[in-house]
Amino acid sequence: MLEARSVAVVGASRRPGSAGDTMVSELQVGGFNGPIYPVNPGYEEVRGLRCYPSLAELPEPVDLVILGVKNALLESQLELAGDNGARAAVIFASCLEEEPRETPLAQRLRALADSYSIALCGGSGMGFLNLDSNLRALAFPERDDLRSGPITWLSHSGSVFTALLHNQRGLRFNLAVSAGMELTTTVADYLRYSLELESTRLVAMFLETVRDPVGFREGLRLANERDVPVVILKIGKEDRARELVVAHSGALAGADGAYEALFREYGVIRVDNLDEMVDTLELFAAGRRAPTGGLSAIHDSGGERAHLIDVAAEIGTPLADISDTTKQRMAAVLDPGLPAVNPVDAWGTGHNSESIYKECMRALLDDDDTAALAFVMDLSDELHEDGGGYTGDVAQEIWNETDKPFAVLSNLGCAIPEKSAANVRGYGIPLLEGTATGLAAFRNLFAHAAFAALPEKEHQPVEPVTTEIRDRWRARLASGETWTEFDGLELLADYGIPTARSETAESSREALEAAERLGWPVVIKTAAEISHKSDQGGVVVGVEDAAALEAAYDDLSTRLGSRVLVQEMAPTGVELALGTVLDPQFGPLVMVAAGGVWVELLEDRAFALPSLDTARAERLLAELAINKLLAGARGSEPADRGAIVATIVRLSLLAVDMGEGLAALDINPLIAGPEGCMAVDALVVPKAPAAVERERPDADKKRRCTG
Ligand code: ADP
Ligand code: MG
Repeated sequence: MLEARSVAVVGASRRPGSAGDTMVSELQVGGFNGPIYPVNPGYEEVRGLRCYPSLAELPEPVDLVILGVKNALLESQLELAGDNGARAAVIFASCLEEEPRETPLAQRLRALADSYSIALCGGSGMGFLNLDSNLRALAFPERDDLRSGPITWLSHSGSVFTALLHNQRGLRFNLAVSAGMELTTTVADYLRYSLELESTRLVAMFLETVRDPVGFREGLRLANERDVPVVILKIGKEDRARELVVAHSGALAGADGAYEALFREYGVIRVDNLDEMVDTLELFAAGRRAPTGGLSAIHDSGGERAHLIDVAAEIGTPLADISDTTKQRMAAVLDPGLPAVNPVDAWGTGHNSESIYKECMRALLDDDDTAALAFVMDLSDELHEDGGGYTGDVAQEIWNETDKPFAVLSNLGCAIPEKSAANVRGYGIPLLEGTATGLAAFRNLFAHAAFAALPEKEHQPVEPVTTEIRDRWRARLASGETWTEFDGLELLADYGIPTARSETAESSREALEAAERLGWPVVIKTAAEISHKSDQGGVVVGVEDAAALEAAYDDLSTRLGSRVLVQEMAPTGVELALGTVLDPQFGPLVMVAAGGVWVELLEDRAFALPSLDTARAERLLAELAINKLLAGARGSEPADRGAIVATIVRLSLLAVDMGEGLAALDINPLIAGPEGCMAVDALVVPKAPAAVERERPDADKKRRCTG
């Protein structure tokens, strides 16, 4: 498909500007050098090429058929393509019928394509361009002057596909695909193909969903292996975890937890919007990678300098902490009254500004903590200098002197004169078009570097459990029996997770005996089948003595039944929530969150794909806002991070071991103090056995769109 050497165009037309005309003209404009066979019974000739009445009349089998026909004709034309021996086809039409039949058109087309071993691009897409092989399979015109570049561009949205191809900032592509509804060929296939191309240095995607999770993961793995950064804008919030709202992990995962986990696993650079995407692509396309450190910035304005500090804090772009030497070097050249700091405002009297800029930039770039430099200039004041050269020329000199990432950053994209932009970009220097998006691009560059610097995943970060333990719990999950908190804590304990010692009791006397064995004070909780006990007043903590225990027992048993759990009291600490949830596409996810009874309100959580090793568990924990509390706050001692991290690692192994059998598990809370951490509550949601059976065959098979 993507390297077709011959192309048939069904629906070719002589009507200027029509889709039938464009399909042929785009092939010609693109410089396609294989045979092009227009097909239309109404013409003898289209655009100087012999036109054939039908696919059945072609002189040879073709590699690619561009099916520029309406829905009603797709099936018959695809069949003719198959009979011709064609290898691939592109479909633009929606694949929706006016009068739907029992088997939808999309499904029939897929079956037909499969029976002929034809790869389909689309439907409901805008085709593709392979600029390395001068192949344009399009029904709408793209720019004539597209030249191949370092970026592979894959999009579910046709509008965004073509918008990005029309960018006016020099972003260039080797391959661009509008994947549409992915009848037989998914972004995973295009991704893996692109990573076989020498010319692919960067991949950008606009994703609605992932239809082939296994292939997609493999693609991301290959990208890591080849050190190709992948930038993704993921849209859409399908409500996929509704059945799991009983577990906090399921509710918090929502529609996006799986993608968050997936992207984290492979260091995908996730962008929030298209503006951030293009600034990020331009910065990455320059090919420079960041060492460790932060951003240094130089300005011609005190106001913009202060604004940059605010925005950097807001979006999480670290600023370089420059040394005294660097400060002294800058102070030596700066005009009086301008502080030698980072970011620096270097515009004073304007006298000698060029050499002041250069000297300050050199000082900043020499600083060990400068991972990248932004030359922040609005460029708008260069209008008068016909040819707009000043900033670009200064930038070029510095660009050539350093290997560190460097960009000109304009605070206001809409005010950049074309000539100034062309001048900067003409030197190969990225020009970022907005304070927030430009700073996000730098943040993304640093995040990518941090990911690349991660040590390879430890093969066995902790001792695995015995197969006896694993199989016993798997069988327990599959048995269909209900799970109590006590059972859940036992499962955790078997996986080496520290848990509060607990005993069940059926009477006041049994409760008292249990408390004596566990040691005072204790916690007493209802053991009724209630997922969230506190909601019903089912938990009494800090029970100091027999009288208090008896009172608590009487109350609990009257309201919620005679069965209770008596539990050792955890030392005070920060309440975290750990959990797992089974994603229908990507399998088990591991959650780390701020815990306790407010877990859903706080929404301070991070998801990852298991298994996790120490470094990855540590990074996950560091994502949380509550992470700050773990370092100790207001006189409290820091929590034992090592113990928490080890618990996350062990839980991730549990998630892998239990696999499809475990729909969700909540440890809420895990109480983390200076002496270690302790799980005091466990909620286990097994996957319904029937559902396990139904879904298993799909687990490692391609998932396909049903149209
Ligand atoms: P729920 O079903 O409401 O989640 P939990 O068992 O988690 O019930 O108890 C609710 C709260 O009580 C916990 O968030 C924690 O603050 C406190 N708690 C429960 N068990 C213990 C314990 N063993 N030691 C200390 N605090 C506990
Ligand atoms: Mg709880």
